Amino acid sequence: MSFERPERPVDRVFLHCSASDNPAHDDIAVIRRWHVQSNGWSDVGYHFFIRKSGRVEAGRNLEHTPAAQGGHNRGTIAICLHGLKADQFSTRQFRALSTLCREINAAYEHQLTFHGHCEVSNKTCPVFDYRTVLGLDSDGLMVRAPDTSRPPATAPEATYPILRTTSSGPAVAHLQQSLKNHGLKLSVDGLFGRETVEAVKKFQHKNGLVVDGIVGAMTWAALNRP
Ligand SMILES: [Zn+2]
Repeated sequence: MSFERPERPVDRVFLHCSASDNPAHDDIAVIRRWHVQSNGWSDVGYHFFIRKSGRVEAGRNLEHTPAAQGGHNRGTIAICLHGLKADQFSTRQFRALSTLCREINAAYEHQLTFHGHCEVSNKTCPVFDYRTVLGLDSDGLMVRAPDTSRPPATAPEATYPILRTTSSGPAVAHLQQSLKNHGLKLSVDGLFGRETVEAVKKFQHKNGLVVDGIVGAMTWAALNRP
């Protein structure tokens, strides 16, 4: 894929993770479905999606502003890597990301900066150490050689957000898969509906937790126990 500058002004690139390690979600079509059906958006929020194989998939039209960093979308390009745990991203993904970002950087004559979603939100997205992967300085300028050799970690534990009936998306799908792994019956659709509430409550009851149907730190900790 060779990158061409869109007409709209762009001065920053934001990096994201999909918050899922489920191979069934390693496909921009799945992310697009979540964003269109669950969020009611016109298209997937990201411009690029990078699979674990290193394949780069095109998302939203580059001429359109992304829906990816609440309040910080204008003038940006949004790239999402499939993954949740920092050590589960692949070297191929990092190589593909580095190649793509170097193409973008060259197209803008090194006048744009690269950032993690975490810099403008209280999330740890994109979880991996993107500054090392892309060779960024503290302003987000590409100044060093990339290091795509290892999957460096930042803070994976904070990728477990508080989930309740208003939640949807990859984190909910991850929750549903975890509940299934604990023997509960429900579908993995990324929507926190009645079925998911019931499964959460059953799980909380079985594990001696407060039965409120809200997935916070205690419930996540219990879910993450084998
Ligand atoms: Zn993000």
